[in-house]
Amino acid sequence: TLQNGHQKKPLDIIIVGGGLVGSLEALLLAKRGHRVRLYEYREDIRRTPHVRGRSINLALSVRGRKALQSVGLEQHMIREHGIPMVGRYIHKFDGSTYVIPYDARTNQCIYSVGRNYLNSLLLKESEKYGNVEKYFNHKLINADLHKGSLTFLKTQNKETVEVNADLIIGADGAYSAVRKAMMKQPLFDYSQKYIEHGYMELCIPPGEDGEFQMPSKYLHIWPRGNFMLIALPNQDRTWTVTLFMPFAKFNEIDTEEKVLAFFGKYFADAIPLIGKKKLLEDFFAASALPLVSVKCRPYNVIDKTLLIGDAAHAVVPFYGQGMNSGFEDCTILDELFQKHNDDIAKILSEYSDTRWKDVFAISDLAMYNYIEMRDLVTRPSYLFRKSIDDFLFWLLPDLWVPLYNSVSFTNMPYSECVRNRQWQDKIFQLIIIFVGLWTFGSILYLSVR
Ligand code: FAD
Repeated sequence: TLQNGHQKKPLDIIIVGGGLVGSLEALLLAKRGHRVRLYEYREDIRRTPHVRGRSINLALSVRGRKALQSVGLEQHMIREHGIPMVGRYIHKFDGSTYVIPYDARTNQCIYSVGRNYLNSLLLKESEKYGNVEKYFNHKLINADLHKGSLTFLKTQNKETVEVNADLIIGADGAYSAVRKAMMKQPLFDYSQKYIEHGYMELCIPPGEDGEFQMPSKYLHIWPRGNFMLIALPNQDRTWTVTLFMPFAKFNEIDTEEKVLAFFGKYFADAIPLIGKKKLLEDFFAASALPLVSVKCRPYNVIDKTLLIGDAAHAVVPFYGQGMNSGFEDCTILDELFQKHNDDIAKILSEYSDTRWKDVFAISDLAMYNYIEMRDLVTRPSYLFRKSIDDFLFWLLPDLWVPLYNSVSFTNMPYSECVRNRQWQDKIFQLIIIFVGLWTFGSILYLSVR
Protein backbone atom coordinates (compact mmCIF):
# COMPACT_ATOMS: atom_id res chain seq x y z
CA THR A 1 0.00 0.00 0.00
CA LEU A 2 1.43 3.38 -0.95
CA GLN A 3 1.43 6.38 1.40
CA ASN A 4 -1.73 7.80 -0.14
CA GLY A 5 -3.57 4.61 0.79
CA HIS A 6 -3.98 3.42 -2.83
CA GLN A 7 -3.33 -0.22 -3.60
CA LYS A 8 -0.91 0.42 -6.44
CA LYS A 9 2.28 -1.19 -7.62
CA PRO A 10 5.21 0.73 -6.08
CA LEU A 11 7.45 2.41 -8.61
CA ASP A 12 10.99 1.21 -9.09
CA ILE A 13 13.11 4.36 -8.77
CA ILE A 14 16.86 4.90 -9.10
CA ILE A 15 18.48 7.98 -7.62
CA VAL A 16 21.94 8.82 -8.92
CA GLY A 17 23.95 10.66 -6.26
CA GLY A 18 23.74 10.15 -2.51
CA GLY A 19 24.69 13.72 -1.57
CA LEU A 20 22.40 15.98 0.44
CA VAL A 21 19.58 16.18 -2.07
CA GLY A 22 19.68 12.57 -3.35
CA SER A 23 19.65 11.09 0.13
CA LEU A 24 16.73 13.32 1.20
CA GLU A 25 14.77 12.45 -1.94
CA ALA A 26 15.36 8.75 -1.23
CA LEU A 27 13.64 9.17 2.15
CA LEU A 28 10.63 10.97 0.72
CA LEU A 29 10.10 8.38 -2.01
CA ALA A 30 10.63 5.51 0.43
CA LYS A 31 8.05 7.09 2.72
CA ARG A 32 5.61 6.99 -0.15
CA GLY A 33 6.19 3.25 -0.44
CA HIS A 34 8.28 3.10 -3.61
CA ARG A 35 11.33 0.94 -4.14
CA VAL A 36 14.39 3.21 -4.12
CA ARG A 37 17.91 2.35 -5.20
CA LEU A 38 20.48 5.02 -4.41
CA TYR A 39 23.75 4.89 -6.38
CA GLU A 40 26.68 6.95 -5.12
CA TYR A 41 30.10 7.41 -6.69
CA ARG A 42 32.00 7.88 -3.45
CA GLU A 43 32.30 5.45 -0.61
CA ASP A 44 29.84 5.75 2.26
CA ILE A 45 30.35 9.27 3.64
CA ARG A 46 29.77 7.89 7.15
CA ARG A 47 33.15 6.19 6.88
CA THR A 48 35.12 9.00 5.26
CA PRO A 49 36.48 12.32 6.49
CA HIS A 50 35.54 15.57 4.77
CA VAL A 51 35.66 15.40 0.98
CA ARG A 52 37.42 18.31 -0.66
CA GLY A 53 35.40 20.25 -3.16
CA ARG A 54 32.36 20.67 -0.94
CA SER A 55 32.03 23.18 1.85
CA ILE A 56 32.48 21.84 5.39
CA ASN A 57 29.42 23.59 6.75
CA LEU A 58 26.35 25.24 5.27
CA ALA A 59 23.63 27.67 6.22
CA LEU A 60 20.29 25.92 6.64
CA SER A 61 17.21 28.14 6.32
CA VAL A 62 13.43 27.77 6.16
CA ARG A 63 13.12 25.95 2.81
CA GLY A 64 15.63 23.32 3.85
CA ARG A 65 14.03 23.04 7.28
CA LYS A 66 10.60 22.43 5.76
CA ALA A 67 11.92 19.49 3.74
CA LEU A 68 13.74 18.04 6.75
CA GLN A 69 10.55 18.40 8.76
CA SER A 70 8.69 16.20 6.29
CA VAL A 71 11.10 13.35 7.06
CA GLY A 72 11.08 14.06 10.81
CA LEU A 73 14.65 15.38 11.04
CA GLU A 74 14.25 19.16 11.30
CA GLN A 75 14.06 19.51 15.06
CA HIS A 76 16.98 17.16 15.61
CA MET A 77 19.06 19.05 13.08
CA ILE A 78 18.47 22.52 14.50
CA ARG A 79 18.25 21.69 18.19
CA GLU A 80 20.98 19.10 18.51
CA HIS A 81 23.34 20.13 15.81
CA GLY A 82 22.64 23.50 14.16
CA ILE A 83 24.26 26.68 15.43
CA PRO A 84 21.90 29.65 15.11
CA MET A 85 23.21 32.70 13.26
CA VAL A 86 21.03 35.77 13.88
CA GLY A 87 22.86 38.22 11.66
CA ARG A 88 25.98 39.27 9.83
CA TYR A 89 28.91 40.29 12.02
CA ILE A 90 30.96 42.71 9.97
CA HIS A 91 34.71 43.08 10.53
CA LYS A 92 35.87 46.43 9.21
CA PHE A 93 39.32 47.24 7.85
CA ASP A 94 40.33 49.00 11.07
CA GLY A 95 39.39 45.99 13.21
CA SER A 96 36.13 47.49 14.50
CA THR A 97 32.96 45.45 14.12
CA TYR A 98 29.19 45.88 13.82
CA VAL A 99 26.19 43.61 13.52
CA ILE A 100 23.51 43.60 10.81
CA PRO A 101 20.65 41.43 12.14
CA TYR A 102 18.87 39.23 9.60
CA ASP A 103 15.51 39.87 11.16
CA ALA A 104 15.41 42.62 13.78
CA ARG A 105 11.64 42.19 14.11
CA THR A 106 11.27 38.55 15.14
CA ASN A 107 14.89 37.42 15.48
CA GLN A 108 14.61 34.66 12.89
CA CYS A 109 17.92 33.02 12.18
CA ILE A 110 19.69 30.67 9.82
CA TYR A 111 21.61 27.64 11.15
CA SER A 112 25.16 26.58 10.52
CA VAL A 113 25.15 22.80 9.99
CA GLY A 114 27.91 20.34 9.15
CA ARG A 115 27.62 18.86 5.66
CA ASN A 116 29.00 15.44 6.61
CA TYR A 117 26.78 15.28 9.67
CA LEU A 118 23.62 16.12 7.73
CA ASN A 119 24.44 13.82 4.83
CA SER A 120 25.26 10.97 7.21
CA LEU A 121 22.04 11.57 9.15
CA LEU A 122 19.96 11.37 5.97
CA LEU A 123 21.71 8.15 4.88
CA LYS A 124 21.33 6.63 8.33
CA GLU A 125 17.63 7.52 8.40
CA SER A 126 17.10 5.54 5.19
CA GLU A 127 18.03 2.40 7.11
CA LYS A 128 14.64 2.66 8.79
CA TYR A 129 13.03 1.89 5.45
CA GLY A 130 13.20 -1.66 4.08
CA ASN A 131 12.54 -0.31 0.58
CA VAL A 132 15.80 1.70 0.19
CA GLU A 133 18.93 0.01 -1.16
CA LYS A 134 22.20 1.94 -1.23
CA TYR A 135 25.10 1.22 -3.55
CA PHE A 136 28.28 3.15 -2.77
CA ASN A 137 31.41 3.19 -4.97
CA HIS A 138 29.20 3.12 -8.07
CA LYS A 139 29.95 5.72 -10.72
CA LEU A 140 27.37 6.39 -13.44
CA ILE A 141 29.18 6.08 -16.76
CA ASN A 142 26.41 5.62 -19.28
CA ALA A 143 22.70 6.28 -19.51
CA ASP A 144 19.83 5.60 -21.86
CA LEU A 145 17.37 8.04 -20.37
CA HIS A 146 14.46 7.09 -22.65
CA LYS A 147 14.67 3.47 -21.66
CA GLY A 148 15.48 4.15 -18.02
CA SER A 149 18.66 2.13 -18.25
CA LEU A 150 21.95 3.03 -16.54
CA THR A 151 25.47 1.64 -16.50
CA PHE A 152 27.60 2.00 -13.37
CA LEU A 153 31.27 1.33 -12.88
CA LYS A 154 32.04 -0.29 -9.55
CA THR A 155 35.05 1.76 -8.55
CA GLN A 156 36.52 -0.91 -6.30
CA ASN A 157 36.79 -3.81 -8.75
CA LYS A 158 36.21 -1.93 -12.06
CA GLU A 159 33.28 -4.15 -13.02
CA THR A 160 30.29 -2.59 -14.75
CA VAL A 161 26.64 -3.21 -13.93
CA GLU A 162 23.56 -2.32 -15.95
CA VAL A 163 20.31 -1.52 -14.17
CA ASN A 164 16.82 -0.40 -15.20
CA ALA A 165 14.10 1.55 -13.46
CA ASP A 166 10.67 3.12 -13.97
CA LEU A 167 12.15 6.49 -13.04
CA ILE A 168 15.70 7.85 -12.83
CA ILE A 169 16.36 10.85 -10.64
CA GLY A 170 19.65 12.63 -11.32
CA ALA A 171 20.86 14.17 -8.04
CA ASP A 172 24.52 13.85 -8.93
CA GLY A 173 25.59 17.43 -8.36
CA ALA A 174 26.92 20.35 -10.36
CA TYR A 175 28.93 18.14 -12.76
CA SER A 176 26.03 15.70 -13.20
CA ALA A 177 26.54 12.67 -15.45
CA VAL A 178 22.77 12.32 -15.84
CA ARG A 179 22.59 15.90 -17.12
CA LYS A 180 25.46 15.18 -19.49
CA ALA A 181 23.40 12.37 -20.99
CA MET A 182 20.40 14.71 -21.20
CA MET A 183 22.39 17.21 -23.24
CA LYS A 184 22.01 14.94 -26.26
CA GLN A 185 18.24 15.55 -26.17
CA PRO A 186 16.82 18.01 -28.68
CA LEU A 187 15.42 21.23 -27.12
CA PHE A 188 17.48 20.81 -23.95
CA ASP A 189 18.79 24.27 -23.02
CA TYR A 190 21.97 24.51 -21.00
CA SER A 191 24.33 27.22 -19.85
CA GLN A 192 27.10 27.35 -17.29
CA LYS A 193 29.19 30.16 -15.91
CA TYR A 194 32.37 29.94 -13.90
CA ILE A 195 32.79 33.13 -11.93
CA GLU A 196 36.25 34.71 -11.87
CA HIS A 197 36.44 34.10 -8.15
CA GLY A 198 37.44 30.91 -6.39
CA TYR A 199 37.24 29.84 -2.76
CA MET A 200 39.58 28.41 -0.17
CA GLU A 201 38.65 27.01 3.22
CA LEU A 202 40.71 27.84 6.31
CA CYS A 203 39.98 27.21 9.97
CA ILE A 204 39.85 29.08 13.27
CA PRO A 205 40.46 26.58 16.09
CA PRO A 206 38.80 26.81 19.53
CA GLY A 207 40.43 29.14 22.07
CA GLU A 208 42.53 27.89 24.97
CA ASP A 209 39.36 27.51 27.05
CA GLY A 210 37.96 25.20 24.34
CA GLU A 211 35.33 27.79 23.39
CA PHE A 212 34.60 29.82 20.27
CA GLN A 213 37.08 32.61 19.69
CA MET A 214 34.41 34.94 18.24
CA PRO A 215 30.72 35.56 19.07
CA SER A 216 29.15 32.37 17.74
CA LYS A 217 25.64 33.49 16.87
CA TYR A 218 26.65 35.23 13.67
CA LEU A 219 27.90 34.70 10.17
CA HIS A 220 31.14 36.70 10.26
CA ILE A 221 32.13 38.68 7.18
CA TRP A 222 35.27 40.64 6.36
CA PRO A 223 34.02 42.53 3.27
CA ARG A 224 36.88 43.99 1.24
CA GLY A 225 35.28 45.24 -1.97
CA ASN A 226 36.39 42.76 -4.61
CA PHE A 227 36.93 39.86 -2.21
CA MET A 228 35.88 38.71 1.24
CA LEU A 229 36.46 36.32 4.08
CA ILE A 230 33.52 34.70 5.85
CA ALA A 231 33.30 32.36 8.84
CA LEU A 232 30.58 29.94 9.96
CA PRO A 233 30.66 28.22 13.37
CA ASN A 234 30.98 24.44 13.87
CA GLN A 235 29.81 22.20 16.71
CA ASP A 236 33.39 21.53 17.81
CA ARG A 237 33.92 25.26 18.50
CA THR A 238 35.98 25.75 15.36
CA TRP A 239 35.09 28.15 12.56
CA THR A 240 35.20 27.27 8.90
CA VAL A 241 36.66 30.35 7.28
CA THR A 242 36.22 30.78 3.54
CA LEU A 243 38.21 33.20 1.45
CA PHE A 244 36.40 34.18 -1.78
CA MET A 245 38.69 36.02 -4.16
CA PRO A 246 39.56 36.34 -7.87
CA PHE A 247 41.83 33.49 -9.03
CA ALA A 248 44.27 36.08 -10.33
CA LYS A 249 44.72 37.37 -6.80
CA PHE A 250 45.10 33.86 -5.36
CA ASN A 251 47.84 33.23 -7.91
CA GLU A 252 49.71 36.40 -6.92
CA ILE A 253 49.99 35.25 -3.31
CA ASP A 254 52.58 32.53 -3.81
CA THR A 255 54.99 32.87 -0.87
CA GLU A 256 54.60 32.73 2.89
CA GLU A 257 55.64 36.37 3.15
CA LYS A 258 52.95 37.39 0.68
CA VAL A 259 50.25 35.44 2.58
CA LEU A 260 51.17 37.13 5.85
CA ALA A 261 51.42 40.54 4.21
CA PHE A 262 48.04 40.04 2.50
CA PHE A 263 46.27 38.89 5.67
CA GLY A 264 48.10 41.54 7.70
CA LYS A 265 46.77 44.22 5.37
CA TYR A 266 43.19 43.06 4.88
CA PHE A 267 42.28 40.65 7.69
CA ALA A 268 44.66 41.61 10.49
CA ASP A 269 42.23 40.65 13.26
CA ALA A 270 41.82 37.15 11.78
CA ILE A 271 45.54 36.27 11.96
CA PRO A 272 45.73 35.71 15.75
CA LEU A 273 42.47 33.76 15.59
CA ILE A 274 43.65 31.39 12.85
CA GLY A 275 47.28 31.37 14.01
CA LYS A 276 50.16 32.23 11.67
CA LYS A 277 51.46 28.66 11.38
CA LYS A 278 48.02 27.18 10.66
CA LEU A 279 47.21 29.96 8.21
CA LEU A 280 50.32 29.21 6.17
CA GLU A 281 49.82 25.44 6.35
CA ASP A 282 46.17 25.63 5.26
CA PHE A 283 46.77 28.27 2.60
CA PHE A 284 49.35 26.15 0.80
CA ALA A 285 47.73 22.77 1.51
CA ALA A 286 45.37 23.12 -1.44
CA SER A 287 44.62 25.44 -4.29
CA ALA A 288 41.51 27.62 -4.56
CA LEU A 289 38.43 25.87 -5.95
CA PRO A 290 36.14 27.12 -8.73
CA LEU A 291 32.49 28.16 -8.39
CA VAL A 292 30.11 27.27 -11.18
CA SER A 293 26.55 28.34 -11.87
CA VAL A 294 24.42 26.09 -14.06
CA LYS A 295 21.05 26.73 -15.64
CA CYS A 296 19.22 24.21 -17.80
CA ARG A 297 15.75 23.07 -18.78
CA PRO A 298 13.62 21.04 -19.16
CA TYR A 299 14.47 18.92 -16.13
CA ASN A 300 12.79 15.77 -17.43
CA VAL A 301 13.10 13.29 -20.27
CA ILE A 302 9.52 12.11 -20.92
CA ASP A 303 8.32 10.13 -17.89
CA LYS A 304 11.68 8.42 -17.34
CA THR A 305 14.24 10.89 -16.00
CA LEU A 306 14.33 13.98 -13.79
CA LEU A 307 17.12 16.26 -12.56
CA ILE A 308 17.05 17.80 -9.08
CA GLY A 309 19.42 19.70 -6.79
CA ASP A 310 22.74 21.00 -8.11
CA ALA A 311 22.43 18.67 -11.12
CA ALA A 312 19.51 20.83 -12.26
CA HIS A 313 20.60 24.20 -10.91
CA ALA A 314 24.02 24.68 -9.35
CA VAL A 315 24.17 28.21 -7.95
CA VAL A 316 27.05 30.23 -6.50
CA PRO A 317 26.97 29.96 -2.70
CA PHE A 318 26.43 33.59 -1.73
CA TYR A 319 22.76 33.38 -0.77
CA GLY A 320 23.26 30.14 1.15
CA GLN A 321 20.47 28.64 -0.94
CA GLY A 322 22.07 25.83 -3.00
CA MET A 323 21.16 23.04 -0.62
CA ASN A 324 18.02 24.83 0.54
CA SER A 325 16.70 25.13 -3.01
CA GLY A 326 17.65 21.49 -3.68
CA PHE A 327 15.71 20.45 -0.58
CA GLU A 328 12.81 22.59 -1.78
CA ASP A 329 12.91 20.62 -5.06
CA CYS A 330 12.25 17.50 -2.95
CA THR A 331 9.32 19.17 -1.15
CA ILE A 332 7.75 20.29 -4.42
CA LEU A 333 8.23 16.87 -5.97
CA ASP A 334 6.63 15.23 -2.95
CA GLU A 335 3.62 17.55 -3.24
CA LEU A 336 3.32 16.66 -6.93
CA PHE A 337 3.48 12.92 -6.17
CA GLN A 338 0.59 13.51 -3.83
CA LYS A 339 -1.33 15.74 -6.24
CA HIS A 340 -0.97 13.41 -9.23
CA ASN A 341 -1.28 10.17 -7.31
CA ASP A 342 2.16 8.90 -8.37
CA ASP A 343 1.48 9.42 -12.10
CA ILE A 344 5.06 10.06 -13.20
CA ALA A 345 4.27 11.63 -16.58
CA LYS A 346 2.11 14.32 -14.99
CA ILE A 347 4.48 14.88 -12.08
CA LEU A 348 7.58 15.30 -14.24
CA SER A 349 5.98 17.57 -16.78
CA GLU A 350 4.40 19.88 -14.18
CA TYR A 351 7.65 20.00 -12.19
CA SER A 352 9.68 20.83 -15.27
CA ASP A 353 7.24 23.45 -16.54
CA THR A 354 7.00 25.32 -13.25
CA ARG A 355 10.22 24.94 -11.26
CA TRP A 356 12.65 26.64 -13.64
CA LYS A 357 11.35 30.19 -12.99
CA ASP A 358 12.18 29.94 -9.33
CA VAL A 359 15.57 28.29 -9.64
CA PHE A 360 16.62 30.75 -12.33
CA ALA A 361 15.57 33.52 -9.93
CA ILE A 362 17.67 32.21 -7.03
CA SER A 363 20.59 31.67 -9.38
CA ASP A 364 20.54 35.38 -10.32
CA LEU A 365 19.98 36.46 -6.71
CA ALA A 366 22.98 34.41 -5.59
CA MET A 367 25.19 36.21 -8.11
CA TYR A 368 23.91 39.57 -6.87
CA ASN A 369 24.40 38.68 -3.20
CA TYR A 370 28.15 38.24 -3.66
CA ILE A 371 28.38 41.95 -4.42
CA GLU A 372 26.17 42.73 -1.43
CA MET A 373 28.30 40.63 0.94
CA ARG A 374 31.75 41.63 -0.20
CA ASP A 375 31.03 45.29 -0.89
CA LEU A 376 27.59 46.82 -0.34
CA VAL A 377 27.27 45.87 3.37
CA THR A 378 29.91 48.49 4.16
CA ARG A 379 28.13 51.33 2.33
CA PRO A 380 25.92 53.89 4.09
CA SER A 381 23.37 53.64 1.24
CA TYR A 382 22.98 49.89 1.91
CA LEU A 383 22.64 50.41 5.66
CA PHE A 384 20.11 53.20 5.08
CA ARG A 385 18.00 51.02 2.78
CA LYS A 386 18.24 48.13 5.26
CA SER A 387 16.98 50.36 8.08
CA ILE A 388 14.02 51.54 5.95
CA ASP A 389 13.27 47.92 5.01
CA ASP A 390 13.44 46.86 8.66
CA PHE A 391 11.16 49.72 9.72
CA LEU A 392 8.54 49.00 7.05
CA PHE A 393 8.76 45.28 7.83
CA TRP A 394 8.11 46.08 11.48
CA LEU A 395 5.20 48.38 10.53
CA LEU A 396 3.65 46.17 7.82
CA PRO A 397 4.92 42.63 8.45
CA ASP A 398 2.57 40.97 5.95
CA LEU A 399 3.07 43.50 3.21
CA TRP A 400 6.69 44.60 3.28
CA VAL A 401 8.90 41.53 3.57
CA PRO A 402 12.51 42.46 2.69
CA LEU A 403 14.24 40.37 0.04
CA TYR A 404 16.67 38.49 2.31
CA ASN A 405 13.85 37.64 4.71
CA SER A 406 11.53 36.38 1.98
CA VAL A 407 14.29 34.19 0.54
CA SER A 408 15.61 32.80 3.81
CA PHE A 409 12.65 32.84 6.17
CA THR A 410 9.62 32.11 4.01
CA ASN A 411 8.61 29.56 1.41
CA MET A 412 7.54 32.25 -1.04
CA PRO A 413 8.56 31.12 -4.56
CA TYR A 414 11.94 32.69 -5.38
CA SER A 415 10.56 34.45 -8.47
CA GLU A 416 7.90 36.09 -6.28
CA CYS A 417 10.62 37.26 -3.86
CA VAL A 418 12.23 39.04 -6.81
CA ARG A 419 8.94 40.58 -7.96
CA ASN A 420 8.31 41.74 -4.39
CA ARG A 421 11.66 43.46 -4.29
CA GLN A 422 10.95 45.16 -7.63
CA TRP A 423 7.78 46.92 -6.41
CA GLN A 424 9.49 47.71 -3.08
CA ASP A 425 12.30 49.37 -5.03
CA LYS A 426 9.77 51.56 -6.84
CA ILE A 427 8.10 52.60 -3.59
CA PHE A 428 11.49 53.19 -2.00
CA GLN A 429 12.42 55.50 -4.89
CA LEU A 430 9.15 57.40 -4.42
CA ILE A 431 9.87 57.75 -0.70
CA ILE A 432 13.33 59.14 -1.49
CA ILE A 433 11.91 61.61 -4.04
CA PHE A 434 9.18 62.67 -1.59
CA VAL A 435 11.64 63.14 1.31
CA GLY A 436 14.03 65.02 -1.03
CA LEU A 437 11.30 67.37 -2.26
CA TRP A 438 9.96 67.89 1.26
CA THR A 439 13.46 68.74 2.57
CA PHE A 440 14.14 71.04 -0.37
CA GLY A 441 10.75 72.74 0.08
CA SER A 442 11.31 73.20 3.80
CA ILE A 443 14.74 74.75 3.26
CA LEU A 444 13.33 77.05 0.57
CA TYR A 445 10.42 78.07 2.77
CA LEU A 446 12.67 78.78 5.76
CA SER A 447 15.17 80.76 3.71
CA VAL A 448 12.40 82.87 2.09
CA ARG A 449 10.91 83.60 5.51
P1 FAD B 1 26.10 17.27 -4.17
O1 FAD B 1 26.13 17.65 -2.76
O2 FAD B 1 27.20 17.71 -5.06
O3 FAD B 1 25.96 15.69 -4.26
C1 FAD B 1 26.03 15.01 -5.49
C2 FAD B 1 26.42 13.58 -5.21
O4 FAD B 1 26.44 12.87 -6.45
C3 FAD B 1 27.82 13.46 -4.61
O5 FAD B 1 27.78 12.67 -3.47
C4 FAD B 1 28.64 12.84 -5.72
O6 FAD B 1 29.68 12.00 -5.24
C5 FAD B 1 27.59 12.04 -6.48
N1 FAD B 1 27.95 11.83 -7.89
C6 FAD B 1 28.53 12.73 -8.73
N2 FAD B 1 28.74 12.16 -9.94
C7 FAD B 1 28.29 10.88 -9.85
C8 FAD B 1 28.24 9.78 -10.77
N3 FAD B 1 28.72 9.89 -12.02
N4 FAD B 1 27.72 8.62 -10.35
C9 FAD B 1 27.23 8.49 -9.07
N5 FAD B 1 27.26 9.48 -8.17
C10 FAD B 1 27.77 10.68 -8.55
N6 FAD B 1 24.04 25.67 0.09
C11 FAD B 1 23.23 26.14 1.07
O7 FAD B 1 22.01 25.91 1.05
N7 FAD B 1 23.74 26.87 2.11
C12 FAD B 1 25.08 27.19 2.17
O8 FAD B 1 25.50 27.87 3.11
C13 FAD B 1 25.94 26.71 1.15
N8 FAD B 1 27.26 26.99 1.18
C14 FAD B 1 28.08 26.54 0.20
C15 FAD B 1 29.43 26.89 0.21
C16 FAD B 1 30.27 26.47 -0.79
C17 FAD B 1 31.72 26.87 -0.75
C18 FAD B 1 29.76 25.66 -1.84
C19 FAD B 1 30.66 25.18 -2.94
C20 FAD B 1 28.42 25.32 -1.87
C21 FAD B 1 27.56 25.75 -0.87
N9 FAD B 1 26.19 25.44 -0.88
C22 FAD B 1 25.36 25.93 0.10
C23 FAD B 1 25.60 24.68 -1.99
C24 FAD B 1 25.45 23.20 -1.62
O9 FAD B 1 26.70 22.68 -1.29
C25 FAD B 1 24.86 22.43 -2.79
O10 FAD B 1 23.76 23.11 -3.32
C26 FAD B 1 24.42 21.03 -2.36
O11 FAD B 1 25.54 20.29 -1.95
C27 FAD B 1 23.73 20.33 -3.50
O12 FAD B 1 23.43 19.03 -3.12
P2 FAD B 1 23.31 17.90 -4.23
O13 FAD B 1 22.97 16.65 -3.49
O14 FAD B 1 22.42 18.35 -5.32
O15 FAD B 1 24.76 17.79 -4.87
